[in-house]
Amino acid sequence: MEEKVKQRINLFLNPEKVKKAKIMAIEENLSLSQLIDKALDTYSSQCRCRTVVHNHKNNKCKNLVNSNDEYCAECHDKAADETMRALGH
Ligand SMILES: [Zn+2]
Repeated sequence: MEEKVKQRINLFLNPEKVKKAKIMAIEENLSLSQLIDKALDTYSSQCRCRTVVHNHKNNKCKNLVNSNDEYCAECHDKAADETMRALGH
């Protein structure tokens, strides 16, 4: 089994957010560290698209990364189409 190396860090967070996070962690049967770890994994696997014409809610695409770039398949395909159009194809 692969042993995961953990790094200890100090975070400076809003006490109300910490309280909510602790409640969430208890509800999900995780430690606070595990909850934050999971949140970071989700965040880092979200599509980076901020293209206004894609009409994402809050101008932020919620899809998960699909191909080996930082975009979901949908935004990746749209961007390819837009590039082709911009080039006059
Ligand atoms: Zn996307």
